[in-house]
Amino acid sequence: MGSNRLTYRRRMPYNTRSNKVRVIKTPGGELRYLHLKKRGTAPKCGDCGTKLPGVPALRPREYSTISRPKKTVQRAYGGSRCANCVKDRVTRAFLIEEQKIVKKVMKEAEKKQKR
Ligand SMILES: [Zn+2]
Repeated sequence: MGSNRLTYRRRMPYNTRSNKVRVIKTPGGELRYLHLKKRGTAPKCGDCGTKLPGVPALRPREYSTISRPKKTVQRAYGGSRCANCVKDRVTRAFLIEEQKIVKKVMKEAEKKQKR
């Protein structure tokens, strides 16, 4: 039985975040380090910070290789804000517009009364 101590297979000698490794057994029965890639982070909603459903967590370079429909959802603010936050925005905008109309109507009614 050989030694169970393993060595890195690249020139980078430090145990840093970018130099993570896993022990694997090769088809020849030898134990060896397998260098791992860094994990991607999922895109988050810009308002509430939850992970966006329907968009995969990838490394930046990997996003450039996948197609657009895999990176967004088909909705206003899709791929940037979550569905609940978009809903809130839509209702808020609607209420503000309604408020404006109410104010306008009230002003006109007041004008008519003065005459
Ligand atoms: Zn949100």
